[in-house]
Amino acid sequence: MIKKLSIAIIALGIMSCTEAKKEISVVKDEPNEAITQNPVRSILTAEEQAILSPDEIIGRLKNGNENFVSNNLTQRDHSEQRRMAMIGQYPKAIVLSCVDSRVPVEDVFDLGIGDIFVARVAGNIENKDIVGSMEFATAVAGSKVVIVMGHTACGAVKHAIDNTDAAAMEMNALQDLLDEIKPSIALTEPNGEVSSKNEAFTNSVINNNALKTVNDIRATSPKMAQLEKEGKIKIVAAIYDMATGKVKFM
Ligand SMILES: [Zn+2]
Repeated sequence: MIKKLSIAIIALGIMSCTEAKKEISVVKDEPNEAITQNPVRSILTAEEQAILSPDEIIGRLKNGNENFVSNNLTQRDHSEQRRMAMIGQYPKAIVLSCVDSRVPVEDVFDLGIGDIFVARVAGNIENKDIVGSMEFATAVAGSKVVIVMGHTACGAVKHAIDNTDAAAMEMNALQDLLDEIKPSIALTEPNGEVSSKNEAFTNSVINNNALKTVNDIRATSPKMAQLEKEGKIKIVAAIYDMATGKVKFM
């Protein structure tokens, strides 16, 4: 009986795989109408990167975010962009985001291949490796804006607020990460219950966490702090609102 059942399950599995394959091949054969209209084929060049100021880049990112909010993303020919990107990369910014799957960074700013560097870690905190990546992005690869982008309803921040004992569940690395967020909780006026159920408080911690990360980056990297003083780069905090898709620069 059990054997028969397993055979039936395997057969069902094979059937659904075959059906899925059929669907994929149908999608492949259909030309993507939007792409065939007027897709962006070029990528950012060294010359374009060189003439953009940090404020112009932030302006472009804000415009891109408006496209995302209004569900009007630019169509791109990714195959052509991928080919062009083989000669090098000249991204205009580096974004440090949380790992949250609901924060699709490139889409949020309506960007494609070669446009930005993206670093991701739960709770968008900085560490040496991330600041090293930012030093590469700015001082070596010419990006002029560093954005630390927190987001509403951040699970990492919520667990830090609620003092979740990850170490007790044998997740020592996660515990270390949550502990990194805790100083931002201490920086935040309690304003009611210190709990992730207190949405206003949680949002304030999320804001403070992004702002603190910006300051930590400046403190960790004298090189980037100097580039910022000279007006060559800008290091800013922003918050992505998951409900509206809007990014608010702080
Ligand atoms: Zn998060």
